[in-house]
Amino acid sequence: MTIQGTCPQCGKRLLHVNVEQIVGIVDGVSKARCISLSCIHCHAVLGVQLDSRAKPRPRRTAAKSSA
Ligand SMILES: [Zn+2]
Repeated sequence: MTIQGTCPQCGKRLLHVNVEQIVGIVDGVSKARCISLSCIHCHAVLGVQLDSRAKPRPRRTAAKSSA
């Protein structure tokens, strides 16, 4: 098996990606840590996903308004 993935923008083979920590915004409020994956050659963003490892604030305390 060989790696055949290529960047959709620059067409180079995608052997590495830049991983950046970014913040997901919901209704203007930062809600979740995300990570973006971008091409190391042309810096096109190839995908964004939730970073399940790191959470800035526990969601339970934030939603504890009517306690
Ligand atoms: Zn590229």
